[in-house]
Amino acid sequence: MQYHAFVIKYAEIGIKGKNRYLFEQALVSQMERVLAKCEGTFKFFRVSGRIYVNAENFDFDEVIAALQTVFGITGICPAVCIERDGDNKLPDINGLSQEVIKFIDGVYADKNMTFKIKVRRVDKTYPLDSMEAAAEIGAQVLDAYPEMKVDVKNPDVLINVEIREKVNIFSEIIPGPGGMPTGTSGRACLLLSGGIDSPVAGYMIAKRGAEIEAVYFNAPPYTSERAKQKVVDLAKVIAKYTGKVNLHVINFTDIQMYIYEKCPHDELTIIMRRYMMRIADMIAEKTGCKGLVTGESIGQVASQTMESLMATDEVVTDMPVYRPLIAFDKQDIVDISLKIDAYETSILPYEDCCTIFVAKHPVTKPLLPVIRAHEKNLSEKIDELVQTALDTDEVITLEA
Ligand code: ATP
Ligand code: MG
Repeated sequence: MQYHAFVIKYAEIGIKGKNRYLFEQALVSQMERVLAKCEGTFKFFRVSGRIYVNAENFDFDEVIAALQTVFGITGICPAVCIERDGDNKLPDINGLSQEVIKFIDGVYADKNMTFKIKVRRVDKTYPLDSMEAAAEIGAQVLDAYPEMKVDVKNPDVLINVEIREKVNIFSEIIPGPGGMPTGTSGRACLLLSGGIDSPVAGYMIAKRGAEIEAVYFNAPPYTSERAKQKVVDLAKVIAKYTGKVNLHVINFTDIQMYIYEKCPHDELTIIMRRYMMRIADMIAEKTGCKGLVTGESIGQVASQTMESLMATDEVVTDMPVYRPLIAFDKQDIVDISLKIDAYETSILPYEDCCTIFVAKHPVTKPLLPVIRAHEKNLSEKIDELVQTALDTDEVITLEA
């Protein structure tokens, strides 16, 4: 089948009232971004609540894969366009019916199916109205393919015929990722580790239109270059959808060693996590983020009991902490990880700074006054260590 265009469907952004224009603009600019990397030439049109991409000399699979990374798109409908003739006329109803018959033959080898023709007459100068045109095209399709049957309620195939400047014919809807276009929700700061959860959490917040600033706490020489590379690769997975991710690599070794030296070992994880949150909070502030994002889920591990979450939350002063996975089971998280192609990277067996110094029996119900008291043991050097960690922040910009 030779397609000439894609009709782009979008759901939520259709209901944004007068902001709708801005959302559509963001959606088009994201489509422009991903299609700029594809072979072919593409033109974008926004007309009466729809977005069209006219395409020439393109690779179908490449274009679909690219559009499936654009948040905001719920469906991609490959379309055939029928142009006006030299006298600026569209085909009459017989000509149009022939085009639809040809379209069906191109797309559906097996005609054993029910169908419905849906016409949208936007060009009101077209002599038949939508209902009349649909009835006539339907009749001619039945003549051409007697094995096809009409079902107006629940057809196997809905064939859309839009009569506009051109005529667009389309039937298939290829699912898009949904969500909101990148750039419509501000910026969020993701605590990104090499695990399964945080990349999924980042993807979910990005899907709501947020741009992502990521922070990784690295502990060389206890963690290797390969562990860092894994996080870089996971940041790239998110950049594939958002276009760009700044990854801040923070050297956490000295802070971790100092905590190890001064605090009870069963509280190590929780105190470490509190310092990660404090530092991420500062980076978020500096980079204009409006929230922190983590991959935590209630009860998954000792540092994610409700008491532990209270303890990590406490140190974040000025912004919300978003935890999109908070009520997810592990398998649900794994399913998303697989879907976004993060899983294979996440399960690579490189060490994580959280697991290096972990106590055999970490506290699962930390008491805030106790934790606060033990953190006082750090007062001599911790501010300086945090400042040094921030000063040596290595920013890696990943672009899709
Ligand atoms: P993940 O699969 O995302 O690593 P996890 O199940 O291993 O999560 P924890 O180790 O308790 O859980 O970490 C909880 C959250 O803290 C992570 O989801 C992540 O957002 C953040 N985090 C943990 N370690 C790091 C790190 N080294 N750098 C940045 N963020 C981290
Ligand atoms: Mg982890």
